[in-house]
Amino acid sequence: MIIKNTTILSIYDLSIRRNMDVLIEGNRIKQIGKNLAESGELIEGKDHYLIPGMVNTHAHTAMTLLRGAAEDANIDDWFNKHIWVYEQNLSPDDVYIGTLLGAAEMLLSGVTFVADHYFYMDKAHQAYKESGMRADLAWAVFGAGPGWEEQYDEALRFSKEYRNKEPRITVSLGPHSPYISPDSFLEKVVEKSEELNLKMHIHVSEEKGQLDRSLREKNRTPVEVLKDTGVLKQGTILAHAYYATDKDLVLIKESGAGVAHCAKTYMKFGDVHNFLPRALKAGIPLGLGTDGACSNNSMSIFEVARDAALMAKCSVKEPEIATISEILPLLSGGGEVLGIKGYGIIEEGALADLVLIDPRTPNMVPDNNVFANLLYSLGEKNIDTVIVDGKVIVSKGKLINLDLKELYRQANASVSRIIKQSSNIPMQKY
Ligand SMILES: [Zn+2]
Repeated sequence: MIIKNTTILSIYDLSIRRNMDVLIEGNRIKQIGKNLAESGELIEGKDHYLIPGMVNTHAHTAMTLLRGAAEDANIDDWFNKHIWVYEQNLSPDDVYIGTLLGAAEMLLSGVTFVADHYFYMDKAHQAYKESGMRADLAWAVFGAGPGWEEQYDEALRFSKEYRNKEPRITVSLGPHSPYISPDSFLEKVVEKSEELNLKMHIHVSEEKGQLDRSLREKNRTPVEVLKDTGVLKQGTILAHAYYATDKDLVLIKESGAGVAHCAKTYMKFGDVHNFLPRALKAGIPLGLGTDGACSNNSMSIFEVARDAALMAKCSVKEPEIATISEILPLLSGGGEVLGIKGYGIIEEGALADLVLIDPRTPNMVPDNNVFANLLYSLGEKNIDTVIVDGKVIVSKGKLINLDLKELYRQANASVSRIIKQSSNIPMQKY
């Protein structure tokens, strides 16, 4: 496959390479240059920008089915009166449908790679396999509450069976969080992660209340709990870490773990905080996440990038921080957090996870600053072609592998059952 005459935008050093051809062989970029010989499928890149695939570093993808089901709520009500009530009714098939819906939405907005933390991940695996997306899957386990042992057994069975099944789809272990999972359980998961050679993906320090409770009850921050139990280490994916203290940020940096920042979720909870300016300064590996669509309402990463930049500026009331050159790398920064070195750098030998943008819409004109347009003006309608693992998955803004109409019908059918048959008893207590 060859992309002809395109403009390559680097989100890392904000460089622009014009009139370039990109030759893709298998799942990698073989050659970049001018006037390369045509080979295989031809994609016309003239008047288009080529950027790397974006990465959603923390998602609960099948929660697309709960989009709009818990609005204008505080975090306690959001969990106890809505989400953990509805999730009682979730069936494996719901996860399959909800994941397909989320994958469709992500691909159409230029996301090529997602770290998904949810239940029934064998069904999510099937959905990602069919959609063509790259994914890392962690089966969420609470480690407490009724039936957690069975849940853990299921998650381990999944991890062992699926970890080497599909090169494009990796597996991590998914202990929920240090505020639900007891320390002894976290230690057990660390042992398993070493035995099975799997990374971990976990929530930590999501809000101020969790930090305060941890200090009160354990005399340590949630990040310190992860350090003491062994969870905080190279490769671990920390969702949020929003209330990480400055000392926590040093611990994270030393450990080699990475953080998924989910800015929009916080803005919806009215919780503006200076996490991002501090994290950028500390130099920890960072990616962006949408979390679930019931708190973020969309699965778009360029939207989260925009929100992250704006919230960072608001949090310290300084327009000069969270600059375009600091925020744009986060679009694909999750790739490294998820263990693929150099993900997002468009060069020979790199994975061919790429997005071709058609900027010929009013919102992208003129191009005084293409990188400002990319961060602050881009829309879904500008996403023209999406390539994952060397294969075209979206062409001219349309998904090749999925029948959207049928998907909408199935999603709506699932939702009526999940929301209407709820018992008002949450699966956990927040
Ligand atoms: Zn989450």
